[in-house]
Amino acid sequence: ATMPPLLSAIATCGRHGVLVKSAAAMERLGAVTRVALDKTGTLTEESARVGGIRVLPGSGLTEDEALALAAAAERPSEHPLARAVVTAARERGLRLEPAADFASAPGRGVRAVVTGHTVQVGSPTALLGGAAAPPERPATCRDDSVRTAITSRCPVRAAVAEVEDSGATAVAVLVDGRPVAVLAIAAPLRAGAAEAVAALGRLTGTPPVLLTGDNKRAAARLGEEVGITDVRAGLLPQDKVATVRGWEDAGERMLMVGDGVNDAPALAAAHSGVAMGRAGSALTVEAADAVVVRDELAAVPAVVTLSRRARRLVA
Ligand code: ADP
Ligand code: MG
Repeated sequence: ATMPPLLSAIATCGRHGVLVKSAAAMERLGAVTRVALDKTGTLTEESARVGGIRVLPGSGLTEDEALALAAAAERPSEHPLARAVVTAARERGLRLEPAADFASAPGRGVRAVVTGHTVQVGSPTALLGGAAAPPERPATCRDDSVRTAITSRCPVRAAVAEVEDSGATAVAVLVDGRPVAVLAIAAPLRAGAAEAVAALGRLTGTPPVLLTGDNKRAAARLGEEVGITDVRAGLLPQDKVATVRGWEDAGERMLMVGDGVNDAPALAAAHSGVAMGRAGSALTVEAADAVVVRDELAAVPAVVTLSRRARRLVA
């Protein structure tokens, strides 16, 4: 007996390293009209690297000390940035103290108690803005242009702006609420990212969009490299959901492609979702119609194509 087309398509996907969850999931994948891609861990490889450490004047810490504290706090996290921090500390042969009371906030960062001190590692916007800003900080510190940051003698803002201008992701390290260092972290593009973006654009007739929690400059630079002009940066998980919902409400059937726990709600809100990578978080895998286990972005346009063929045969 021959297999029904959708099941046969699922089998083909499986042979190519994509696990599709059901016939209904297979069918949804082919019905999408617009694609939204996450940046970190999705368009970029999961293995990011720490390219530089800027210790802030007055912190009293060395680079190694700042990195060791950050790595100790990040150790329990599965985020690609967290793994970059831990790897950098290991490569320098640093001893990591145990962390207590670990907490992570998707799209923001982590917090833990290390050697009796509260260490926070994460997004400069989340950790340095608003209520988290130390009271002595002048209001102009919120402005993230390099010039204003330097002239207003706000070293942490200056360091963040410098890192972001270089196209890297800036990660702030705070000890007991005080900024002590800024890490510059970069991840290489996944092989075939630009080709996959182009293929998805051809399939849907609409250029894909980039949704990321990272800073505007790093996001825009990556957008240029892969050929995405609609780039939405600085998004928290709920902002990704709102963006996806907005398109769904306007009649689009969205395909959300993401890797992290921060993408799970957006995957669930979209018509269909694809989770990238073996290391994809359990929640993301749960919310997805398909999981790319072979870590190749080319798999995403491939499953859409297979689904369309199968749907034509069913109809
Ligand atoms: P993306 O949407 O590009 O995948 P995320 O939403 O995962 O990015 O992260 C957004 C931002 O939150 C990061 O650029 C970083 O500043 C911060 N962040 C989140 N988790 C962590 C972490 N574990 N360590 C450091 N920074 C983090
Ligand atoms: Mg991600």
